[in-house]
Order: sequence, then C-alpha cells, then structure tokens
Amino acid sequence: MKLYPLFADLSHRAVLVVGGGAVAERKVAALLGAQAQVTVNAPTLTPQLRRWVGEGRVAHRADAFQEGWLDRVWLVVAATSDREMNTLVATLAGLRRIFVNVVDDAALSSFHVPAVVDRAPLMIAISSGGEAPMLARLLRERLETLLDHSLGALATLAARLRHRIRARLPDMAVRRQFYETLFTGQVATLLRRGQPKQALHAAEQALASVPSAPTGAVVLVGAGPGDPGLLTLRALRALNEADVILHDRLVSAEVLELARRDAERIEVGKQAGNHHTTQDGIHALLLEHARAGRRVVRLKGGDPFVFGRGGEELEFLRAHGIPYEVVPGITAAVACAAYAGIPLTHREHAQSVRFVTAHCRSSLDTLDWVALARERQTLAVYMGVGELAALQARLIEHGRAATTPFALIENGSRAGQRVVTGTLANLHERASAHAVASPALLILGEVAALAQSLAWFGQPPLGATVHDIRRVAANRRHVILPPAPADLLSAIHRG
Ligand code: SAH
Repeated sequence: MKLYPLFADLSHRAVLVVGGGAVAERKVAALLGAQAQVTVNAPTLTPQLRRWVGEGRVAHRADAFQEGWLDRVWLVVAATSDREMNTLVATLAGLRRIFVNVVDDAALSSFHVPAVVDRAPLMIAISSGGEAPMLARLLRERLETLLDHSLGALATLAARLRHRIRARLPDMAVRRQFYETLFTGQVATLLRRGQPKQALHAAEQALASVPSAPTGAVVLVGAGPGDPGLLTLRALRALNEADVILHDRLVSAEVLELARRDAERIEVGKQAGNHHTTQDGIHALLLEHARAGRRVVRLKGGDPFVFGRGGEELEFLRAHGIPYEVVPGITAAVACAAYAGIPLTHREHAQSVRFVTAHCRSSLDTLDWVALARERQTLAVYMGVGELAALQARLIEHGRAATTPFALIENGSRAGQRVVTGTLANLHERASAHAVASPALLILGEVAALAQSLAWFGQPPLGATVHDIRRVAANRRHVILPPAPADLLSAIHRG
C-alpha cells in the first residue's frame, strides 16, 4: 500500500479522540501541539488528560459515544482498547468521509500518524504504511541524531528574512545560492551555538553584501563507475548545488537520482560510432549555461581526466573566461579491479599498471606494443570490447605470454556486474562466447588470476571452476546478488 503524505493544519479545528488511556493521551499531546480543539470521549481519563481538561485545553465527554458528534469534527482518533468500539467509530467516520486513525490498526485507519522528527516549523514525517513500523522508528532515531535541534531556529530565521531576501535577490538562481550559504555557513553555526541574535545579524550582513547578479561556473565532476556509494562528498555537494547537469550516457541513473530535484539534466551521451552531441556541441552548451549565470555540473563517468576529454573542456572554458573546478572520480580501472577482487599491483606479480584505451583500429596503431607486452605489469584497457581480437594478436606478437590471465569486467560496480576470465590465448573467444558488451574493462596481467579467489561482489567470475566458485561463496561477506543455485549451475555450464 502506498500512502499519500500530507501535513494537516488543525489549528482551532475540532478533533475527537475516543479513549482516555495512555495511548489516547499521547495522541492528544500531539494534537495539542498542532493547536487542535480536542474533545476526549471516555468514562475515565489519565491524570494528565484530567489536568488538560482542568486547564480548559481539552473538552471531556464522559457519556457513551454518540454518532452525531462526528458531524462537527475534522478528524477522529479511535484509541480505546475495545476493538469493536474502534471498528464502530471507524465505520461511522468512514460513512461521513471523515478521516479516522485507529491506533495500531492500519487496516481500519484512513489516515496514519507518521513517526516524526520535530524541528518545527520543519517537520520530517516517516511512514512505512503500517508495514514496518520498527524500521520507520529506527530511521527516525537516525535522523534525530543527524539533524541538529537548531534547524527549527534556522527555518524561523529564514522565514523572517524571506521577503527581504526576495526583494533584494529577485533572480531565482542567486537566491538559491544565497539560501545555501545561509543554511550551511556561519549563520547556521551561530544558531547551533545558541546565538540567535548574532545569527540574525550575520544573515542581514550577508544579504546586504551579496552580489545580486548571478555568476555562472562549471564544475567538472567524476561520477565514478556507477555505484553511487563511490561518489566523493564533493561530487555529491556539486550535484546538490547544480542548476544544470550535462552528463554522459555512462553516468548511472542512481547517481543522477542524487542530484538536486529541479536541476535540469541534459544527456550529452557519446557512444562509440554514435555521437549524440559533438564535442563542439558540448562546449557550446557549457558556455551557454555558464554565461546565463547557472551553476553547471559537467558530469562524466569515472574520472573526468581519464579518457574523458575533461582536459579539452577545461581548455575551452579557460579560453572563454568561465570559472571552473574539477572533482576527481573513481576511474573504471580502479573500480572494476576493486569490485572484481583484482589488486592492480602486487608485490609478486605486477610492479606497474598502465591505463590504455583501444577504442578503434587507428588508436591501436599509435600504441607502444613492445612496452605493453612487457611482463610484470598490469594493463587496464578502456573501450576495448570491439578490438579484443586485434589486441590479443598484437600482444602475443610482441611477446606477451599467451597464458597471461585476463579478466573482463562488464558493468563494474553495478547491479549487473559480470566478470569473464581466461588467458590471453582465448580472450576474444571467451568475450564473444559470453557476449561481453560495453561498458566493459579489460584487466590483463598475472593479477587478473586473483579474481578467482578474491571476488566478493555480484556473481562469481565466469570461467571459474566449481571448486573456485565454492571457495568464493564461502569467503564472501558482502553479497549484493546472492547466487541462486540455478545461477551457479548455469555459471558453471557457461564457464
Ligand atoms: N572517464 C572514464 C572512462 C571513459 S571511457 C573513467 O575514468 O572511467 C569509457 C570506458 O570506460 C568504457 O568503454 C569502459 O571500458 C570503461 N568503463 C566505464 N565505466 C565502466 C564500468 N562501470 N564497468 C566497466 N567498464 C567501465
């Protein structure tokens, strides 16, 4: 069941609570917090409820529940320990289309009361739709510790300055930037320290000195290989501050999901042989948005400076006087190696690692094959899926042993990660047999053999023996996609 969340304004609105015990008392306390006009219907009340009645904050009806009372209330809470009574109240409320909450009975309730993190006027409500209340509660506890109590004061301060901020900074983008510095900078710190006067003063000063015209800039951000957990904190911040995001096709949906909701997302995907947007087109877009005063995030898979043409984009920005920053990302070679259990260097097997790209025949011609074929080094080959046959032939031709192990990692760090292993002699054959497709990265070198024993993420490597698979299964702690017996069998057949 998926519920529709809403926050109700109950101030000076009549609400009926049926029941006078401890649970009813909790409900009444929350309702009084929202300034509702509460009537409690129960023969006896808890001492606290009696006190509230005595103070005139709550009305009390000790007589038997009467259907007609429902006609003058906005909401009803049934909090008796008598299930029949609760059912009756819920049914009668339903007939009148009045929202009713039956305590601890999701099925009878037409509204649920969420777990709340209260930083009034800021409220965070958490609901599991009645399915997993313990989880909702746990989440609330986490949020309670995460969110400072001064947040409420921050919201109040922002409300107080809102009209002045609007008048001083009519441009939306500038206003948003100002609010962000307000919420994360010195003003927030002063409030955390319990100095509201100084905080207000600092906010007023900031408002007086902020330039009212927008200043555009570009942040070149590495999005990593796909798993959003591999983003840097800086990348996350840039994504949260962006007005426009120009992203490659390679950037995962999960990463884009973390960006500011109303940031404009433009895919400028480039695929081998199928360039949606030319590099010149990307440059033009960067310029256009930055000159309009927007904060542009140029989001690239992996690291922007590793086979990402990030350098060319910076040169262009520099030539046009657009300010920029660069946030590095985890490049595919590093991520794929980690997620396949392959150390790129190893004291016994590899003293160096080379990042190579092999995206087309002509790029292969420019490579130094003698150097690449040397032993005791690891090759990490980007964009090479189409050129594996040529790669295999040239490396063997230049003296690399045909028995050198390889691992091809497809969709590294993502839910569908596949690792195909073998030796240089059967590289092309095994890749075609398993129809390895882009994005995939080739790791070639003695270290690649370690995937058999050190793999920990996703399915076991294809190419492993039954014995290897058992050993990997026994070792793994962190199972993202636990291999079902059927998968294991098919992996053995395929491998
Ligand atoms: N700047 C990127 C590389 C761009 S080139 C980086 O630093 O990672 C694109 C190539 O990167 C792909 O063809 C593939 O070889 C590799 N690649 C990127 N993401 C990958 C992933 N999740 N799994 C496997 N290979 C990946």
